[in-house]
Amino acid sequence: MSDTPDLRLQDFTPKPQMVTPATRVTTPKFQAIDAHNHLAEPFGGGWDKRPVAELLDILDTADIRVYVDLDGGWGESILNNHLDYFKAAAPERFRIFGGVNWESWSEHGDRFGEWAASQLRIQTARGAQGLKIWKPFGLHVRDQHDQLVRVNDARLDPLWETAAELDLPVLIHVADPVAFFDPLDASNERWEELHGHPDWQFPSPPFPSFMALMTDFAALVINHPRTTFVGAHVGCYAENLAWVGQLLDRCPNFFIDFSARIAELGRQPYSTRRFFLKYADRILFGTDAGPSLDHYRLYYRFLETDDEYFNYGTKPIPGQGRWQIYGLYLPDDVLQKVYYQNARRVILRQA
Ligand SMILES: [Zn+2]
Repeated sequence: MSDTPDLRLQDFTPKPQMVTPATRVTTPKFQAIDAHNHLAEPFGGGWDKRPVAELLDILDTADIRVYVDLDGGWGESILNNHLDYFKAAAPERFRIFGGVNWESWSEHGDRFGEWAASQLRIQTARGAQGLKIWKPFGLHVRDQHDQLVRVNDARLDPLWETAAELDLPVLIHVADPVAFFDPLDASNERWEELHGHPDWQFPSPPFPSFMALMTDFAALVINHPRTTFVGAHVGCYAENLAWVGQLLDRCPNFFIDFSARIAELGRQPYSTRRFFLKYADRILFGTDAGPSLDHYRLYYRFLETDDEYFNYGTKPIPGQGRWQIYGLYLPDDVLQKVYYQNARRVILRQA
């Protein structure tokens, strides 16, 4: 035996030997709204081509009362398909969000914001009930001069103000996660994930730095106090709850979902629990994993139990990094708000 055996990372699969509870939570303690999810490829499992009845069965089993489908997009046909296929089949069970067609910037120039606002009105008239801003905003979206558009670009003010006027929540994802901006060396905590998805790296330069994007994001939320923003994936900065908390403190129009980030939250369980207790009115449940029973149950376990050191994913080696998570054992009043009441107010727009 050599002192330093040459074991490859991918072959290292340690089995924890602690004897601690592993609680199976099949349904949430209170019914839930999934405020961040998808139904089309690549994130939603292609449910636009599968029977809606089957989908409703899964949602019933998981006790998900309302499912937010962020895949309405901007093509009339996509939005219409989702409205016709899901919304018409079960109007109370789905909310379909529209999107912005950034490709048209070159055509509309400095008037792009007005044009995008007019498109939002059209989408809303058709039945869209929110606006999804995808991550290329800040990283790839370019104006008519081929210049990168900043997240707080004033030319987009009409879009955000129109969302406020139409009472539409804006669910927005910028920048996150931090490690995608770091060099892909042995110190990168998302090393395996980035090797699996080399196009997820955003080295700066040429890309703006993570903090430059987040500073612009904060300015956007601060500059549009009438607009309701939901920062995806723990306000786009799950690694730094203090930063997210400061923006929540400053901006009553800011909310967060924690979809696809229990890996980050569950490895800082003390901070996360304090954060959930303090901001219980501002946090929305969501999974971003398609209508997956396994994922729902993992999230319920994370929120409700004090189970320790468990896999945050559904595969033996979880996707975001080789660590494990701890449950939050949240009190009932917080669970009720996070599962349902906050989304009822922020997404369903009900008092
Ligand atoms: Zn998503």
